[in-house]
Amino acid sequence: MPARCFRCGGEAGRYYLPHMRRMICRDCLVDFYEKKVRNTVLKYGMLRNVNTLGIAVSGGKDSMALLRVMKRLFPTLSMKAIYIHLGIPGYSDECEDVVRRVCGEMGVELIIHRVSDEGYTIPDFQHTPFKSRICGACGTVKRYHLNLIAYEHGIDTIATGHNLDDTVEVLFELYLRGEVDEITRIRPVSPGVGSKMAARIKPLIEMTEEENLYYVEATGTPYVESWCPLVKGSRMMRRKELIRMIEERIPGFRHTFFKSHVKRFLPRLEESSKQVQLRECEVCGMPTTSNICSYCRLRSRVLRAVEAYGKTGA
Ligand code: SF4
Ligand SMILES: [Zn+2]
Ligand SMILES: [Zn+2]
Repeated sequence: MPARCFRCGGEAGRYYLPHMRRMICRDCLVDFYEKKVRNTVLKYGMLRNVNTLGIAVSGGKDSMALLRVMKRLFPTLSMKAIYIHLGIPGYSDECEDVVRRVCGEMGVELIIHRVSDEGYTIPDFQHTPFKSRICGACGTVKRYHLNLIAYEHGIDTIATGHNLDDTVEVLFELYLRGEVDEITRIRPVSPGVGSKMAARIKPLIEMTEEENLYYVEATGTPYVESWCPLVKGSRMMRRKELIRMIEERIPGFRHTFFKSHVKRFLPRLEESSKQVQLRECEVCGMPTTSNICSYCRLRSRVLRAVEAYGKTGA
């Protein structure tokens, strides 16, 4: 007998929600997902004071789900999608094609920035001391450009597609290492500072990877299925695997961990964490806590590598 949807009793197909130990049908999944995202957005006041929202899109399932659901839930909100082309051979072009197609179908303006215009690509970091932490360097590059693009295009708030699994993976590592200041930065909403630092929101922070995947599939939203070739064997992937194993043994582990962080730890940690003083980077003029921002330092490293080894990416 086919499994039944826990909401309407209809045939559930293949949509299984492990943390609830329930099956759900396609139509109920779409409705359930959209209600859950709406609740998250309202609960944390994510759209308070937003004039223009930038949606960071990578072409993967999470950011495509984010774009689709935000457009569905808030159709009158001014939105612009931002794609950072990282110069990863094959992969970055494939992602750009998907992002262009989805933005075109949804009528969302798309801003594209190519890091190769600055003389390097992400694979070039393989010739720098960041080669074993390439995702960390890539994260800095993406954060910096999202913020810069927001500043240049009058975007006051940036939404990213971080899901519950991403968040728990990062928290897991930070709690293990006792990185208190970093832990306080893992939150659903980070307010903006002045005109050069946009606010950040994570509308999918309570959605699991499975839910995002089901949503793009159920709504027929195109997305890039392949993984970034640079992620293979990374520590991040190993931690995610570990968290999946824990979730199998303790269903609801991800939700419990996240809730404890937001409700119990974050308010206390915020009280005791030091307020950082921002100043302008001496090289690029964007906000930073030191004389030269982490992006400008990374960029000069990778440009030295390109000079020595030539360019790797596309
Ligand atoms: S997997 Fe790592 S290198 Fe690849 S796009 Fe993501 S952060 Fe960048
Ligand atoms: Zn149903
Ligand atoms: Zn700088």
